[in-house]
Amino acid sequence: MSGATIIDGKAIAAGLRADVAASVERLGREHGVMPGLAVVLVGDDPASHVYVRNKDRETRAAGMASFEIKVPATTTESELLAIITELNARDDVDGILVQLPLPPHIDSGRIIEAIDPAKDVDGFHPINVGRLASGQPALVPCTPLGCIILAKSVQANLTGLEAVVIGRSNIVGKPVAQLLLAENCTVTIAHSKSRGLPEIAAGADLLIAAVGRPELIRADWIKPGAIVIDVGINRVPGEGGKSKLVGDVHFEDARRVARAITPVPGGVGPMTIACLLRNTLTAAAARRGIALAI
Ligand code: NAP
Repeated sequence: MSGATIIDGKAIAAGLRADVAASVERLGREHGVMPGLAVVLVGDDPASHVYVRNKDRETRAAGMASFEIKVPATTTESELLAIITELNARDDVDGILVQLPLPPHIDSGRIIEAIDPAKDVDGFHPINVGRLASGQPALVPCTPLGCIILAKSVQANLTGLEAVVIGRSNIVGKPVAQLLLAENCTVTIAHSKSRGLPEIAAGADLLIAAVGRPELIRADWIKPGAIVIDVGINRVPGEGGKSKLVGDVHFEDARRVARAITPVPGGVGPMTIACLLRNTLTAAAARRGIALAI
């Protein structure tokens, strides 16, 4: 093998954002609709503030309306539920995203269930989870959707591939496995209690790592010629006392064996916001019964 193709998540995300912006422009011109995304942020977590700022910038850049609702960490569950009820009722809000994690006194499950499923652009509401699992049209979680788009950038038709997902979280592992099933892959979901993980991984034509363990996956876990999508974002000590980001896959090891691989950073990460914008556009069109090819 001469070395893997590096899947350029930044470029693919930029292309998706441009496609979304073009559809937003068309929606405005033909139907007089401007999609709107409301992001609710509870508390002062600095990382969450950075995410919310980026979402706001990208939402506006795509030609959509962006509403930021920032409330203090002392906000009660019932106050937050009242905010969700108000956003559910607003016609200019097509997507509602509650930035997680929430402070411990708030039950995030209750908050997610209060969001109108038609505006649930994170795809975490049990109605959307159930729709995805039963093969019905659904708003799909953003990071898993990004993984599928990246895999299909290498091979448009994933039918028949042996896909292994390492990780079974509700936000990445389980939904990405459902999406792979919908793409006609044969799907194995592995997790911390799985036995013989390296052998399971080495059977994969398409390996998706969503573990949160820095560089767990080495060359001998990877089938020669596999497509490797690395969702992990792990901060580890780097050179000169600085920290750096690495994935769940040992990149330099894996690129010698794989056919294609996503880097960290610059792989799956940039896809998440692009898919959030796509979901907001999808929600805006679906709520109004408008058929829109994105
Ligand atoms: P999570 O909720 O902690 O789930 C991790 C999963 O990995 C669990 O299912 C766990 O198994 C499994 N696991 C942990 N250690 C393992 C091991 N040694 N061997 C096999 N399986 C193991 O994490 P998450 O939210 O899914 O996120 C996973 C990674 O993706 C993190 O690095 C996160 O930062 C990153 N992430 C990136 C994006 C993005 O790019 N935008 C978005 C979301 C997450 P059990 O279920 O048995 O505990």
